[in-house]
Amino acid sequence: MKEGVARFWREIPQRYNFLGNVCSSCDRVFFPPREACPFCRRKSMGKMKEQYLSGHGEVISYTVIHVGPEDFEEQVPYPVAIIQLDEGPRITGQIVDCDPDDVKIGMKVESTFRKIQQDGCSGAIYYGYKFLKSHNSNK
Ligand SMILES: [Zn+2]
Repeated sequence: MKEGVARFWREIPQRYNFLGNVCSSCDRVFFPPREACPFCRRKSMGKMKEQYLSGHGEVISYTVIHVGPEDFEEQVPYPVAIIQLDEGPRITGQIVDCDPDDVKIGMKVESTFRKIQQDGCSGAIYYGYKFLKSHNSNK
């Protein structure tokens, strides 16, 4: 079972398209990529470099949505978490294939690419990625 899952993920090329960028002045990493570093704006103009992110991170905060917007109605309740990626950026994403009761602060997660959806209430766009509990997590 475990090996089957690993092979499955290796076969999804989009997994490697988690593209952010990094400021060459202060080394801060951004996702989604920014046109200019908000910390050293002018100095870093034209110095943003693309960087692929691992998509691995940790849950630092989460909430369980019980009343979803139209597109999500069939999925409630579902957890949405703020995830700190290993490279530094914090992003919001839905956690899938996980019981809402199993989500914990500090849980290791990894990105997976799913259908892009837009949250009609908050206007939040899930950029095609969602998160799964990391297979390597022992929490
Ligand atoms: Zn910078």
